Amino acid sequence: MKNRWDEREARSFIARYKAAGPDLALRTYSARLIGRDSSLVLHGGGNTSVKTVSRTLDGETAQVICIKGSGWDLATIEPAGHPAVKMEPLERLRALPWLSDEDMVNASRTNMLDAAGPTPSVETLLHAFLPHRFIDHTHADAVLSITNQPDSEKRARAWVGEHLGVVPYIMPGFALAKLAAEIYERDPSVEGLVLVKHGIFTFGDTARQSYDRMIEWVDSAERLIARSKRFTFHPLRLPDKAHARDVGIAANLIRGQCFLPSNGGRQATPRQPLIVRHRSSDAILEFVTSREAARLSQQGPATPDHVIRTKAKPLLMPAVPVADEKRFGAALRVRLAEYIKAYQAYFHHQSRAKQVVRTPLDPVPRVVLVPGVGLFGLGIDAKAADVALDIYEHTINVITNASRIGTYRALPDGDLFDLEYWSLEQAKLGKATPKAFAGKVVWISGAAAGIGLATAKAFAKDGAHVFLTDRDGPALEEVIKQIGLGRQGASMRCDVTDKVQVNVAFERCSLTFGGVDIVVSNAGVAPVHDIASCPEPMLRESYEINFFAHQHVAQAAVRIFKRQALGGVLLFNASKSAFNPGPGFGPYTLPKAGVIALTRQYAVEVGKMGVRVNAVNADRVQTGLYRNGLLAKRAKARGLTVQEYVKGNLLGEEVFAEDVAQAFVALAQARKTTGAVLPVDGGNAAAFPR
Ligand code: ZN
Repeated sequence: MKNRWDEREARSFIARYKAAGPDLALRTYSARLIGRDSSLVLHGGGNTSVKTVSRTLDGETAQVICIKGSGWDLATIEPAGHPAVKMEPLERLRALPWLSDEDMVNASRTNMLDAAGPTPSVETLLHAFLPHRFIDHTHADAVLSITNQPDSEKRARAWVGEHLGVVPYIMPGFALAKLAAEIYERDPSVEGLVLVKHGIFTFGDTARQSYDRMIEWVDSAERLIARSKRFTFHPLRLPDKAHARDVGIAANLIRGQCFLPSNGGRQATPRQPLIVRHRSSDAILEFVTSREAARLSQQGPATPDHVIRTKAKPLLMPAVPVADEKRFGAALRVRLAEYIKAYQAYFHHQSRAKQVVRTPLDPVPRVVLVPGVGLFGLGIDAKAADVALDIYEHTINVITNASRIGTYRALPDGDLFDLEYWSLEQAKLGKATPKAFAGKVVWISGAAAGIGLATAKAFAKDGAHVFLTDRDGPALEEVIKQIGLGRQGASMRCDVTDKVQVNVAFERCSLTFGGVDIVVSNAGVAPVHDIASCPEPMLRESYEINFFAHQHVAQAAVRIFKRQALGGVLLFNASKSAFNPGPGFGPYTLPKAGVIALTRQYAVEVGKMGVRVNAVNADRVQTGLYRNGLLAKRAKARGLTVQEYVKGNLLGEEVFAEDVAQAFVALAQARKTTGAVLPVDGGNAAAFPR
């Protein structure tokens, strides 16, 4: 464990955060040092505090504790992430025999100096009841390996001697805060506290002292582990090494079965799909492909608050080769049914035993272990899925090291239930309305500009994850950067006239997000020639992009829709010229008329799979399709100026790419509509679909 303290950097924080004062500036600095090391804390885990003096509006001074606020991540924390709470009222709470979590949160909120600050950590009282100026708390992997053991207290004591206090496991809250303070007071010379099956606290008069102690003790835990022999896993026998294709198939099957149940109501989405992400490494593969995984993975999380992100246990697949799609799918169905049954039994048993009334959470796993393939993380968005993966990857490390020095033993179900069904968490349930396309994946061709780009933006705004493809790779990368979708967007260069490239692009989409729900087959070009003298290569080339490419996309999409069995949406960018041809536009019109037929053919054949197929007929949208003066030529062909041409519709309004995007979004949501053609042309009686 490396000590990252740099005196010069520390001083630069004091200068940078002058307004916050040196105490809070240094608190910010060392909190970030801790946050940046994933073997100390992960994704908002851990907390830090400093006790200092703050001036109130009336010129008085107040003793305050600046404690990490919820919603902040230590890695990126700012001074505002440690809201100040008055110390004196908090200290008085210690005299109480009992305090509910709600009252505890209320007490810290009502004593904040800034009413708009974030809610102080649930571990605020633990920090407040200890006298030290700086306090750091982490869930360090190495400490968890030592304390997740059947005899954890004895082991912890043997490790830290008299230098740290050892606190038996109690759920975070008032009782833990009081117990930690009592244990500290028995021997005020200790440098910190080990919290069995939870983590470690260190204290200091200065930010540096507390940080140094944290690093020293975690380093000591790592050295203790390193002294024992490496744990040997016994590998399961599996046929071949899994290929990228297999990973994509596994992701599709997992995504297809591990969806969230409907949130009720006739209009509700019947199934809420999740984003599925894959991760693999030598350590992950060794673990998931071992005989020991069956026992070790079904123990529980390394520290209790992980239960919110990963559930208590992952779903472990048997050693079935993914390449045997049918067998893998059937094995998953069996394991998932067992998983759900076990989760429901745990919920009923625990709520009855504790005599509490709780709203059951969904019983769907957030981590799936596949021998020979690796880990899959599930979440309502890519971030949540990645968090589950990060946590589980560290859990594997904790379990492996715990097995190296003894036997991994996580908290019993009762304690996990208290955390998972904590009243403060339950209160949040059902309050946030998810976006319309949360958990959904949209695959789009021709996405680097015009209608494709506008469509990507429209779906992403409503929560969809978008996979963008285009023939122009560099333009696509630029677009992804420019619209700043982060993990919500991915892209790949793809020439849709090449069937192999299309298949690879769908595979990549499966590897990135787990599968696909909505496909917008949009790419096209608009060649112009009178039909009688049209050179055949020109017509054939137009058919490649304006017809066959749509077929390639639809074929690849339907294959995934079938595997997922979650239904799906196929949307084509057709053209009004199929109904209302214009002179000289034959090479474009003919294949586009084929796309209308393609739409209807697919609608007829895939409806039973719950897949809806619709097309949009856009007209006279000024995009790249009309480059090189084509728009002027088309206007001229109709005897109009460009302005007259673009506004020459029933509404007298120009049609923009964003209008077409809205039509795609609307069709994706029209849950009982299939085989339809929706014009987006401002109204043109001659082009009404028939
Ligand atoms: Zn903690």
